[in-house]
Amino acid sequence: MNKYFEIVPTHLNTAFRHTPFNKIKSAAKIQINFYIRKHYGQKIKKIRVRLRMLKKNRTFVPDFGILCKIVMRDFTLDIYRELLETLQKQGYELISYAEYCRNTDISEYRNTEKRFVILRHDVDAKPWNSLKTAQIEHSLGAKATYYFRVGKESNNPEVIRAIAQLGHEIGYHYEDMALCQGDVVKAYSHFQTWLGYFRQYYAVETVCMHGAPTNKYDGRDLWKVYDYKALGVIGEPYFDTDFSDVLYLTDTGRCWDGYKVSVRDKIPQYQDEWSRRGWTWHTTGELIQTIKDNRLPAHVMMTTHPQRWTNKKNEWGKELFVQNFKNIVKRILILTKK
Ligand SMILES: [Zn+2]
Repeated sequence: MNKYFEIVPTHLNTAFRHTPFNKIKSAAKIQINFYIRKHYGQKIKKIRVRLRMLKKNRTFVPDFGILCKIVMRDFTLDIYRELLETLQKQGYELISYAEYCRNTDISEYRNTEKRFVILRHDVDAKPWNSLKTAQIEHSLGAKATYYFRVGKESNNPEVIRAIAQLGHEIGYHYEDMALCQGDVVKAYSHFQTWLGYFRQYYAVETVCMHGAPTNKYDGRDLWKVYDYKALGVIGEPYFDTDFSDVLYLTDTGRCWDGYKVSVRDKIPQYQDEWSRRGWTWHTTGELIQTIKDNRLPAHVMMTTHPQRWTNKKNEWGKELFVQNFKNIVKRILILTKK
């Protein structure tokens, strides 16, 4: 299965880290050619890597992981489209979260072989990027759910209207506990106010917690006291998805196995089992190949943050480096919590 070139550099990387400098240097003298598959595709591209930097700086150990990420150009809109097209080709219906919630009771989706992927988007920032993914989905006849936050970094009425017009579902990405400093009564009233606000644009049926890793309040604590169903909300992904039946995938950390460094965006009780079954992927290319090989489970929820999916080179590069840095910080956060 390991057809991806990125596997190769990972080995090289590990090898280099444990190799004496002299050996690295001699290895560097030989121009390393690696044959890679450009994004999992048919075309095999030959890339020459010259490690001139090694000669200049004795302490520099090249990180092939990052180098390959640059070559790969993962998390672009092009690869997102390809991911959806591949899913459709393999018979997956691309649905919104509300569609899933409405159908679980009548068990149309539960425990059947019918294939579906719930397309969930957490619009944490850069709302205009989410219009781009919404347009791609619309052009493929897919339905998705877009969760918007109250802050200006996400809440853009023009974008919300446009996405709703494309036939997608709009939901509330709530963080009321954090915004009200853990005051449950205030947070509930804040929640109602903003649910009302988003319902100006769309008849909101589902809501989803925004899980900022640095905030000490967990938005879901609100539901230890109150019941969102009393407000006409039919679903909250963390509570109303049957994860014993639905595989959870998220692009958190700008990779598909970021649950390892995620503080809240994960399903801890099932993650180990999914890993045991080999249902973990790092790049979108790996994920696409798995779908092509017919090895993806039939029921999936896929969470993406549209802010990190872009074809613009500058924005893409910034996202790559910022997210890789953030992953290091998150790793430290998780370690210190233990
Ligand atoms: Zn979020």
